[in-house]
Amino acid sequence: LLEVIGLNKYFDGFHVLKDISFSVKKGEVVVILGPSGSGKSTLLRCINGLEEIQSGQIKLNGEVINEDSTKWHLIRQKIGMVFQSYDLFPHMTVYENILLGPLKAQKRDKKEVARQAEELLDRVGLLDRKNFYPRQLSGGQRQRVAIVRALCMNPEIMLFDEVTASLDPEMVREVLDVMLELAKEGMTMIIVTHEMEFAKAVADRIIFIDGGEITEVAEAQEFFTQPKTERAKNFLNIFN
Ligand code: ATP
Ligand code: MG
Repeated sequence: LLEVIGLNKYFDGFHVLKDISFSVKKGEVVVILGPSGSGKSTLLRCINGLEEIQSGQIKLNGEVINEDSTKWHLIRQKIGMVFQSYDLFPHMTVYENILLGPLKAQKRDKKEVARQAEELLDRVGLLDRKNFYPRQLSGGQRQRVAIVRALCMNPEIMLFDEVTASLDPEMVREVLDVMLELAKEGMTMIIVTHEMEFAKAVADRIIFIDGGEITEVAEAQEFFTQPKTERAKNFLNIFN
């Protein structure tokens, strides 16, 4: 479904992503692990066209998507992304936040979108918060709304960048459960997280990034039981 081939990214002179190549199959859940500053967020942002890359290709369904910048607004509808910081529009209700993309960018039928929005809100337990403003919600509720908003565009793949990192511990679970549920339903996902137990539970495959390079790719089970590199071992030890 998604292919990244020889991606290189520089910030001024700083080589932040070095010759990154990997692919994600339909229905697969790939978790990206790695130390702080290793380039995980930058990689997700490149995949979503939020950062320019200096060389390499990104393909979605076999089609190169990074070479024509006028296409990004269309591509982004197929690649949903949820960030660490809540990025809901503060002056819009939950409902308005969710409907904005499907109605304005995708020009879909309002009744159909409204039905889908309510269904999704119900699934994450927030239907009764539909007319609330973001500031009237807890962090965990906001992140669940952000996930619903991305899902309502019917993306082919979802990218998650440490979506629970700024949440109080008691709210982490409710957000991770939504993501586990999505995984079970066969959603294709790339997840950056520091929640190791969650990573173990959700991942099909692990990509380990260190210093802007992929240093290890493995089946999740294998990565957690017998990491191949010292760096991955040390990284995992921190969490044990
Ligand atoms: P964390 O786990 O802390 O979120 P990360 O793996 O997501 O880290 P990135 O945010 O991708 O790391 O950053 C990778 C490197 O690129 C860091 O050294 C960072 O300082 C640098 N960097 C990130 N964004 C920019 C930017 N806009 N301009 C210059 N350098 C940047
Ligand atoms: Mg990051």
